[in-house]
Amino acid sequence: MAFTQPHSNEALSTADAIRCRITGAYDEKYGPDGYYFEDLLGVDRDLFEIAYKPGKWTLLHRFTLSHLWEQWNYYRKKSDEEFIKDAYRLIFHYRTPVSIRAHPDLSAHKDYLFEQLLQPMKQIAHEVFCILFSDKELMRAFSIKVSEAIADACPSEYPDYLEATGIMKRASFWPTWLREALFYRENGRCAKCSSSLTGVFDSTLKPQVDHIVPISNGGTTDPTNLQYLCEPCNKKKGNRSNEAGGFIYVPWEYSHSKLSRIRID
Ligand SMILES: [Zn+2]
Repeated sequence: MAFTQPHSNEALSTADAIRCRITGAYDEKYGPDGYYFEDLLGVDRDLFEIAYKPGKWTLLHRFTLSHLWEQWNYYRKKSDEEFIKDAYRLIFHYRTPVSIRAHPDLSAHKDYLFEQLLQPMKQIAHEVFCILFSDKELMRAFSIKVSEAIADACPSEYPDYLEATGIMKRASFWPTWLREALFYRENGRCAKCSSSLTGVFDSTLKPQVDHIVPISNGGTTDPTNLQYLCEPCNKKKGNRSNEAGGFIYVPWEYSHSKLSRIRID
């Protein structure tokens, strides 16, 4: 999905809300709404289907959509005119095709609009993913929360996906689009030691896909739990450590001494 416009305010504010839900700062900033992380994540067969092998609709997409769904559903119940105005704003912003039709009453009109919001919500969920995916420390926190949410899930209930209670089966097929996405996010470098993995400087450093939270610690094979490491870093990390690489910034340096000369009068 290509975006030809800047992120919407809705996507930016949702990204902040999702970040707060992951770090545990949500209640303090937005006020408690009674939803726990695992309520929004939803532990069911669909979750394991997503978590078992890398797909483009990730656990973070699912979590964000669930958050948006609950938010807008609450908004629908508590407001009339404002809800309708904001629903149309979102529908038009995301160019969702809606049919103009007569509704028997206000409630039916609101229900219709709520259904039409599913498409924009999915687009926002993808924008939120694009905004947050580069923050591996946040992805690590998310993956740890996911591992806690599935900790009690039994293989007898989900035999296709679980090896033991709370432990996923290992799938290690890495599609090209995923390798490219990880390579792009890490700027072609090892997420841990920043060695170049392009093969131009050192062709012996073969990039390896690493589970940030290892499978043996309850990690999933969802893209949110993956990073690229060089072979030595991957070997050193082993399968018990939940370590994530740091944020890899664009190669852009600025000098404090130059900035300090800028005067704001
Ligand atoms: Zn490395």
